[in-house]
Amino acid sequence: MLDTLIIGGGISGLTVAHAAGMGKRPGKCELWEACDRVGGTIGTDRVEGYSVDWGPNGFLDREPLTLKLVDELGLREALEPANPLSEKRFIAKNGRLHPVPFSPAKMVKTALLGPLGKARVFCEPLVPGRRGDGDESVFDFAARRIGRAAAETFVDPMVSGVFGGVARELSLPSCFPIMREMETRYGGLVKAMIARGFEKRRAGAPKKKGGPAGPAGRLTSLQTGLDLLIQRLEQELAPVIRKGRRIARITRNDDFWEVADDSGTVVQAGKLVIACPTYAAAGMLQDFDSELADAFEAIPYAPIIVVATGHRREDVTHPLDGFGFLVPRTQGMRTLGSIWTSSIFAARAPEGYVQFRSMLGGAGDPAVLELSDDQLWETLRRELDPLIGIRNDPTFIRIYRWEKGIPQFKLGHRERRARLERLVARHPGLFITGNAYYGVGLNDCVKMARRVASQLDSRN
Ligand SMILES: Cc1cc2nc3c(=O)[nH]c(=O)nc-3n(C[C@H](O)[C@H](O)[C@H](O)COP(=O)(O)OP(=O)(O)OC[C@H]3O[C@@H](n4cnc5c(N)ncnc54)[C@H](O)[C@@H]3O)c2cc1C
Repeated sequence: MLDTLIIGGGISGLTVAHAAGMGKRPGKCELWEACDRVGGTIGTDRVEGYSVDWGPNGFLDREPLTLKLVDELGLREALEPANPLSEKRFIAKNGRLHPVPFSPAKMVKTALLGPLGKARVFCEPLVPGRRGDGDESVFDFAARRIGRAAAETFVDPMVSGVFGGVARELSLPSCFPIMREMETRYGGLVKAMIARGFEKRRAGAPKKKGGPAGPAGRLTSLQTGLDLLIQRLEQELAPVIRKGRRIARITRNDDFWEVADDSGTVVQAGKLVIACPTYAAAGMLQDFDSELADAFEAIPYAPIIVVATGHRREDVTHPLDGFGFLVPRTQGMRTLGSIWTSSIFAARAPEGYVQFRSMLGGAGDPAVLELSDDQLWETLRRELDPLIGIRNDPTFIRIYRWEKGIPQFKLGHRERRARLERLVARHPGLFITGNAYYGVGLNDCVKMARRVASQLDSRN
């Protein structure tokens, strides 16, 4: 009989185990992971001198709890901030890449919007704040505040890039709670930025760059790849990690949980932390509590495919002087965006070569999963070539297919989450954590996992 069992060994489950000090309590705690490796969507391949991340390629260095985790794992020295030159970002429009206009002066000059679209952006401070706490899509919010053209050009591709989602379907207060707060508290985005600047100066805080989505943070990874984080967590937690244990069924007796994997191995535990994707949790709980299973199932996921390619530098004509580019849906392309990985982190490609990670699919194009590897590369090549000029075949190509890649916080997500939490609370000793509830980023996962770890000590 265990004290605690964690289901799922992605960053969420591993962080709970780490924060609760489980590595020192073998026999009392275990973490069961379905695959023969831990890390979930975090992984790094080493291919012909390239270091290739499977899913996430970094986190913003603005979350103290992630930096605390990095420190506790002795990885502070290994942190690798993005090259400052990669702050420049591009948007593809009409067959060309245009820099994102981050200042009013650049907004005046950009070819991404026509005169009316620009004028509408500058009217943002005059748009009255929306009353009430009702849900609103990210797209409707943006169209209301900065106009439809700017919403289609800037916000729609940003939502595809971060969530693999469709801006018209996703919930603003769930995906970008800070933006909602900026409107309700200050009356608008520009007003909020000005007011916050004053507040910070009054408080004597150092001046930091930031956008409407929140305080600035610098994209940061670890030298050699993000999987270093997972390797360290695995080393520390080795005594309690059990790989290849795909949980099939959860039941509860009067005082404890009984959990069985698909080979029939059974374990009993006083506390259970579900840190796997919600669709997996739904399957495990169907026989025990079908209402709870349905509540897990109600959170949808979007597919996303990452195509990582390496190229000789001279085979690409674009200067690659930035982070990469995103593609608005209006452009009719299947590529959601392409990250110039070796412009952001130079050591991700050997000298004289470059690495790209391009994304396809998302909630708006699930049929992309049907494309073969060759078709994926043909599609990409056709769409990338006019934008950045690709002369020859890539030196390597790796394709990572995430069939259910990123949870979608669709309209009504707050209610779905609240219902789920109510149903979970009916069961003593049951906890949930992961990317499907409060945020999909690594920082969000670490924050929620630490909160759950502290509840494990204090509740039940
Ligand atoms: C392509 C892509 C790019 C991304 N880029 C970024 C980025 O740049 N920055 C960022 O901050 N975030 C990014 N994210 C999001 C971030 O990577 C994830 O939200 C985060 O890694 C999720 O961690 P998790 O532990 O909650 O879930 P997961 O990583 O999904 O881990 C869940 C674990 O549960 C296991 N499991 C499933 N079923 C069972 C079962 N039946 N029994 C036991 N175990 C089970 C799985 O095998 C898996 O290991 C990206 C995501 C994707 C897909």
